[in-house]
Amino acid sequence: MNTLESIPLHQERALIRVDFNVPLDDKGNVTDATRIAAALPTIQYIISKGGSCVLMSHLGRPKGFDQKFSLKQILPSLQEQLGQSIQFCPDVVGEKAEAQAAALKPGEVLLIENLRFHEEETKGDKAFAAGLAKLGTVYVNDAFGTAHRAHASTTIVAQFFPKKKCFGHLLAGEIEAIDKVMSSGEKPVLAILGGAKVSSKITIIENILPKVDHLIIGGGMAFTFIKAQGGKIGKSICEDDKMPLALSILEQAKEHGVQIHLPVDVRAGQSFANDTQQQVFPINEIPDDWEGMDAGPDSEVKFDAVVKQCKTILWNGPLGVFEFSNFANGTRALGDSVVAQTKRGAFSLVGGGDSVAAVKQFKLENAVSYVSTGGGAMLESLEGKTLPGIAAILA
Ligand code: AMP
Repeated sequence: MNTLESIPLHQERALIRVDFNVPLDDKGNVTDATRIAAALPTIQYIISKGGSCVLMSHLGRPKGFDQKFSLKQILPSLQEQLGQSIQFCPDVVGEKAEAQAAALKPGEVLLIENLRFHEEETKGDKAFAAGLAKLGTVYVNDAFGTAHRAHASTTIVAQFFPKKKCFGHLLAGEIEAIDKVMSSGEKPVLAILGGAKVSSKITIIENILPKVDHLIIGGGMAFTFIKAQGGKIGKSICEDDKMPLALSILEQAKEHGVQIHLPVDVRAGQSFANDTQQQVFPINEIPDDWEGMDAGPDSEVKFDAVVKQCKTILWNGPLGVFEFSNFANGTRALGDSVVAQTKRGAFSLVGGGDSVAAVKQFKLENAVSYVSTGGGAMLESLEGKTLPGIAAILA
């Protein structure tokens, strides 16, 4: 892999695509600095090797210049975390930015303004990318969250550094974690897929079936599988048009020798609300006016036993409506099982959207092996797609 260790950094000026797309309050203060902290190892490594850094990122989805989306607002947080002062340039290309970048001494850091103030960024404009390329002597991509986009700073700019481009530590870690669950991980391999809809996970299921030994299907998407097999699911969420596909997935799993595990019971409610009356039913005997909203206690035990057998675990999607505290039990219990198995030596990757929110809500993010920083990028990786930002470094 093209890692930071594979290119010389001494006296070099690293143009680093980071992901500083952080949430801000209405005064412009960073309210969650996780992404800034995640970029530090790469910046610190380059500095320790005698290089300087030019940091570029997007923030939000501005249309043209908009003070609300200025990256200048994150400077205090970035400076505090890095423990040194950082220069800022309001331009991203052109003479001023080039001069400021060229004047950097080893150990110094420059942050340039929000790339998305320029529509050329998302269009993947080559001339704009050439302008960005003038700011550095080596290119480092450390933004997994945008690696599935062929934008100027994430993909196109790499072609101007044919021999001097690499992944940062964060992106390299993401690639390694995905590789572990998709090909190099210790068996048995388990994938846990939850969330609302089968339709949004079909490509993932089809891509991972040949790679896993066990597949837990939970959350709202389980009901399409249960109904397709003749179960009564009450008014639980279901995609009737996907029932034939659900049956075909069960069939494909058999052919691949994959064991599929569905919930055996549910915590149901009478309306879609946290404080609705709650009752547990067998998964295929839910009365007409009840809605399955969380995995039930027997399912928790069943899933725990599956998790305990596995050495490599991928978790994408919650097992219930975990945003409602009264229906968070199933997801929390699964989180606890995954954490316990990680302690016993398994590798666990949590990635793609709401399962990341769930592990953070339950404060388990430091107790699993890896929590992905990229929602859409992780989903596309699990679908088996080659991400343009990754391909551009390997080209
Ligand atoms: P996804 O983005 O596809 O991973 O779906 C995540 C969403 O699925 C979360 O907001 C959950 O509240 C929702 N979800 C999980 N289980 C259920 C369920 N049984 N009924 C309705 N929504 C669910």
